[in-house]
Amino acid sequence: MTDRRVGGLRPGIRKKVLGISGSPGAREPRTSLQRDGQGTRPGPFAPLRRRAAMRTPTVLISGASIAGPALAYWLNARGWQTTVVERFEGLREDGQNIDVRGAGREVARRMGIEDAIRAASTGETGTEFVDAAARPLARFAAGTSDSGGATAELEILRGQLSRIIVDRTHDETEYVFGDRIVALDDADDGVTVTFAGGAIRTFDVVVVAEGLRSRTRSMIFLDTDAVRELGFYVAYLTIPRTDDDTDLWRWHSAGRGRSVTLRPDNLGTVRATLAFLSDVQGLDELDREGIVTILRRTFADVGWAAPRVLAALDDAPLYFDAVGQARMPSWTSGRVALLGDAAYCSSPISGMSTRTARRSPGTRRSCARTWTRPRSCRPAHRASPTRAAAPDSPR
Ligand SMILES: Cc1cc2nc3c(=O)[nH]c(=O)nc-3n(C[C@H](O)[C@H](O)[C@H](O)COP(=O)(O)OP(=O)(O)OC[C@H]3O[C@@H](n4cnc5c(N)ncnc54)[C@H](O)[C@@H]3O)c2cc1C
Repeated sequence: MTDRRVGGLRPGIRKKVLGISGSPGAREPRTSLQRDGQGTRPGPFAPLRRRAAMRTPTVLISGASIAGPALAYWLNARGWQTTVVERFEGLREDGQNIDVRGAGREVARRMGIEDAIRAASTGETGTEFVDAAARPLARFAAGTSDSGGATAELEILRGQLSRIIVDRTHDETEYVFGDRIVALDDADDGVTVTFAGGAIRTFDVVVVAEGLRSRTRSMIFLDTDAVRELGFYVAYLTIPRTDDDTDLWRWHSAGRGRSVTLRPDNLGTVRATLAFLSDVQGLDELDREGIVTILRRTFADVGWAAPRVLAALDDAPLYFDAVGQARMPSWTSGRVALLGDAAYCSSPISGMSTRTARRSPGTRRSCARTWTRPRSCRPAHRASPTRAAAPDSPR
């Protein structure tokens, strides 16, 4: 059967994608009247809209993973016209289990996606530590509280959570796949953005939600060393499920800073990780062959599931990442804001990134403030507003 989806999305998206690349900047902003059908909805942003003579504020969000689409949802609800650009050709389905609890659970509830998340739950029932011969050492049931247990009551694959949020927003948000920002001109009346595909468009606000290794961030925050490397690497793989696999997150600590884990998913496969400490920086910049060689050497003497995972390395989907944190002196500069891992990544080991990405502390308020009083958010170190993009990252 022919897949009619564009970028892995539903057919309705196609028109929007062609719309932007075919006629850059040609789309007329929707007014609040058109959007609501009945006139302007009252709400916290109503005074801002009045101040702008009823013009709908526009935002470009760069990055269609978790933080970007989640912000689009909240801004749509406040009457903004939202565009999301993603450098990949479609939604990225990779990634492992994300727990949904605490503030993240509350945000999911308020976004009306809690049931969809529950329907896509991985079904993981707890965490079990095992020795090299697969003997259980300790077992912890899934935690029902906000912080209890490595496994939460509600777990979902990162890619599926991203798709749920994009599906929730795609009727109102314009999604553009396979493009990226190459230059930004942040002026008093808007940010003029040049895209790699050649389009030039102006937005009231630009939000960079490109993850820890964001390149657009360095166009705005010059000379800022945003990423603090933690000397820790994680390889994420999807491997076939066998009869010996369980619904537990099984975890083997192999010594010398190495661990192997297996987790169930809801797709009939198993999510495996190989994690290790290393003082060597830049291993994540190697090609797949180099990464596979490093993993095979590092885990050659490790027992339990390590041989099975290493054997799968030849053709299993693989995502390899250097673990780091983002620390920024400011999250806004003029009309440009950082969001999610690009702004305040706490690293996957903290288990907090996806939660904070959805929660987007203060960004919605920042967008409103930046739109009306852009200069008030500008940090002192900011230099010339027009910047060219750094070379593309491998990720
Ligand atoms: C493929 C993938 C797999 C992941 N797997 C896991 C996992 O297993 N466990 C875990 O804890 N966390 C994982 N993460 C990270 C996790 O999604 C984030 O920590 C968290 O959800 C915060 O999300 P974010 O939206 O801020 O950033 P991210 O999830 O990192 O998403 C950033 C998005 O921006 C896009 N992007 C990057 N540069 C540009 C650009 N120049 N222009 C346009 N778009 C750009 C990326 O392609 C990506 O879609 C993964 C992220 C990705 C992208």
